[in-house]
Amino acid sequence: MLHLSERGSPQTAEQEGYKNKTPPPPSEKPSQERRVRIGEATAGGGLQDGKGGGGGGGGELVAAGRRVDGEISFKMDSRVLDCSICFEPLKPPIYQCEVGHAVCFRCRGKLCNTCPSCSRAIGHCRCFALEQMVNAIKMPCSNANYGCDKIIAYYQKETHENACMYAPCFCPEDGCSFIGSTGSLLNHFVTEHKWSQTNFHYNKALKISVKRHSRFTLLVGEDMSMFLLLNIFAHIGNALSLLCIRPNESGSSVSSKMSAVQRAEGDKGRYVFQMDPHVASSSLNGGVQLGRFFLLVPPDLVDESTDELTVNIRIDTIESASSDH
Ligand SMILES: [Zn+2]
Ligand SMILES: [Zn+2]
Ligand SMILES: [Zn+2]
Ligand SMILES: [Zn+2]
Repeated sequence: MLHLSERGSPQTAEQEGYKNKTPPPPSEKPSQERRVRIGEATAGGGLQDGKGGGGGGGGELVAAGRRVDGEISFKMDSRVLDCSICFEPLKPPIYQCEVGHAVCFRCRGKLCNTCPSCSRAIGHCRCFALEQMVNAIKMPCSNANYGCDKIIAYYQKETHENACMYAPCFCPEDGCSFIGSTGSLLNHFVTEHKWSQTNFHYNKALKISVKRHSRFTLLVGEDMSMFLLLNIFAHIGNALSLLCIRPNESGSSVSSKMSAVQRAEGDKGRYVFQMDPHVASSSLNGGVQLGRFFLLVPPDLVDESTDELTVNIRIDTIESASSDH
């Protein structure tokens, strides 16, 4: 069942960039075969990234002409790393029945100590050999191309990748196929599209001028989080909404308030206001969409002399807002 394969050295961040626009989603399981690394099977966890082993003892294999001491690279059917009952990746503690069938700790609790394969008792017998193996099987994060250098245990891969901050984001400009980590996307916006970057502080008001026909305004928080002020121009006015650019859609925890005031002379000033209680996050995979909470700025609030609309915007961290109570 094991085959030698070329060892995949993680690419560097410099190699990211213009690619076709559909990278594999982090949790995709393209096939049952995965490239894995097996390092020294110490009970506590195994290899350090790329430097483990070091002993040069037996067991090393040559992969693609490169010899990596203490590590071997090969293909295996990843189903052997999954619990045969719940199909989740096996992770310590792993139990076994009297005969030796392995069961994950989650399933053991549900099975009333009876092995589903042979009906013998499961008991408290751990399967340390398998635990050592799953601790030693490490693989690069799927976002290695985008700069993540984490080498993670197979059973931690999905958890890591769901939260990995190197997961790619997408350039929203028409006709641009740039994909990259948030850091490289920010660099791309500024250098390739000459977007100007407005830095802001959370929980403080910011006054900003937006060209009537300019679709994107880039705002960067003090934590380097990127926000896009979207501006959709229509005959009834400009619709503005805020979006956080980040790999994980659940990530953002900010609210926003936006308002615009007509510079009225004398009696009737006009004022529009919108609050977004939870600013949406997106990797911009699939483009940009106006959020649910948008500020509609009527045409008469646009300064005709500069063709700009001026908005007051305030981005509040939700944690700090709730801690006020
Ligand atoms: Zn299980
Ligand atoms: Zn059994
Ligand atoms: Zn990662
Ligand atoms: Zn671009």
